[in-house]
Amino acid sequence: MSYAGSNPGPFDPSDPFGPPPPRRSPLRRPLAVALAALVPGALLGWLAYEALGGTGGAEGPGSGAGAAPSVLSSPAGGAGGASGDDKTGVGTSRSSAPAGSGAASLKGKVVVIDPGHNDTNVEHTAEINRKVDIGTNWKECDTTGTSTNSGYSEAKFTLDVAHRLRALLERQGATVKLTQDGDRPFGPCIDERARIGNAAHADAVVSIHADGAGAGQRGFHVILPASVHAGAADTRAVVGPSKNLGKLIAGDFARATGTSASNYVGDGTGLVTRQDLGGLNLSTVPKVFIECGNMRDTKDAALLTSGAWRQDAAEGISEGIVSFLRG
Ligand code: ZN
Repeated sequence: MSYAGSNPGPFDPSDPFGPPPPRRSPLRRPLAVALAALVPGALLGWLAYEALGGTGGAEGPGSGAGAAPSVLSSPAGGAGGASGDDKTGVGTSRSSAPAGSGAASLKGKVVVIDPGHNDTNVEHTAEINRKVDIGTNWKECDTTGTSTNSGYSEAKFTLDVAHRLRALLERQGATVKLTQDGDRPFGPCIDERARIGNAAHADAVVSIHADGAGAGQRGFHVILPASVHAGAADTRAVVGPSKNLGKLIAGDFARATGTSASNYVGDGTGLVTRQDLGGLNLSTVPKVFIECGNMRDTKDAALLTSGAWRQDAAEGISEGIVSFLRG
């Protein structure tokens, strides 16, 4: 990710800070000149960063409007927690949190995190290949997932991000449940993953993944449920709120990680709608998937294998969820 404005801009010889004070050192004037040059450069860099982060999850004209509040509201929510933003804060109108208490703001909210795949699925191929009914058709119970070229598995990645995300959400007061915590020999199957969110009456569910696309294919995308109504699948009531959830997560994920929306699906919006995923088709609560990057691209893999980047990823997802839950 490069930031177009990160290079200091051309130095304006007309010193904006006026004439320098009387010299006390021959170094003082060069220092003042250097500082004067750096300030506009840093400002430009910040503005470019904000602009890139703000459009990373945008979807044309409609989603530009959807993504912008998430970018604006996250810092306000974080910084404003202690300044009584209950009257004016963006996205806090339905919050039952007392002013100044960010920790209690999600009390009573239930979030289910679905760490995609399972690191020991590979030892249970017969079980995970069993077909399950996802309403629109039948699909394998679960899959092994992908890995980086050096062998870091998607399942390890998803569980690590899930743990980081759980800690962030619990700190906000949410009740968090994982569909699996490395405590099962395989799965759960995709239909059960959906049922866990439904049974918990989750206010939001996020299924965490990383993709296995070709080298050079980079970036994240959030997968939204299509409107389906077939067999046990009926997403009609959750398509709208899921889209809102997905847009918020996409915007905050782009900003928090500094990564771009996928360059191979979603036409640069970071949003993809699918009707072939059991985990989405069978959900009766707002739910999205996020493909955090492409494990098979070496540049994306360098990010996905970094603990610091995974923390940024978890923070971006968390901020999107928090914005969604606060309405
Ligand atoms: Zn996956």
